[in-house]
Amino acid sequence: MDYQHTIASPVAINGIGLHTGVTVSVRLCPAPANTDIVFRRMDLEGFAIEAHSGHVARVSYATSLMRKGVLISTTEHLLSALAGLNVDNVSVELDNLELPILDGSALPFVKLIAKAGLRRQRARRTYMKLLRPVEVVEGAKRLAIYPSETFEITYKILFPHPLIGEQTLTFVPNPANYEAEIAPARTFGFLEEVEMLRKNGLIRGGSLENAVVLTRDAVLNPQGLRFPDEFCRHKVLDLIGDLALLGRPVLGHVVAERAGHAMHAQLVSRLLQERKAWTGVTEAETRVKSATQRPSELAASFS
Ligand SMILES: [Zn+2]
Repeated sequence: MDYQHTIASPVAINGIGLHTGVTVSVRLCPAPANTDIVFRRMDLEGFAIEAHSGHVARVSYATSLMRKGVLISTTEHLLSALAGLNVDNVSVELDNLELPILDGSALPFVKLIAKAGLRRQRARRTYMKLLRPVEVVEGAKRLAIYPSETFEITYKILFPHPLIGEQTLTFVPNPANYEAEIAPARTFGFLEEVEMLRKNGLIRGGSLENAVVLTRDAVLNPQGLRFPDEFCRHKVLDLIGDLALLGRPVLGHVVAERAGHAMHAQLVSRLLQERKAWTGVTEAETRVKSATQRPSELAASFS
């Protein structure tokens, strides 16, 4: 898809916030080309906060945006669904401070966007194409992005839990495989952390309806897991959402080891600072470049 896209018609959904536990209505509306994703607090006269790295506020257990003291919390699953389906421009109206958690995955948002349909716009989409690697390291945690002709993710997680252990997933997203393999993966947490999180005013809306909850050796949810590696898939889901804060899709190979929202946000702000590490290209330019750089591959595709 070479051109920017918005949704074809407005759509709405209701739910509760994972951390606040309050009811919230969200309405997605079509937006003009080059506006990106803009959140609007309709309970505060439509106060707008662009989904951009400069507005990232808190990133411990969710990615929240803030401008002039106004907060919009837990944005990553909706941003992931929008990025996963290649939606560039949309206005997200909500009447409270936290996005609904729904079933803990991005699938309800994917279905909502599918219901709205997509509309192609006249402006070209521009990509952030990596020219050299950019890396964030914090002890055993690492998050890097390397030059690549496509957007690719390799995510490795390591939790000392019998149902998780080490999981690695390599994923080259497109809308179809995003919907089937990443969007359904739910957020997860450990039962022994529940009390601590509640004491800190978090996960007030959390339940087995919207999160995978792990005891020391089992899954508490009666239906079990949606994928054996649902945990790693959810990290990929979160990463795709957090990278949307770059304001444009990326052409590069992201390699994550035991990362999380805070590191995702660090990589995004590093990328935006290191202007020599990347260049802005349209997809058409990328195709021309790879055609001239790799004549043998091009010839093979015509044989
Ligand atoms: Zn998440």
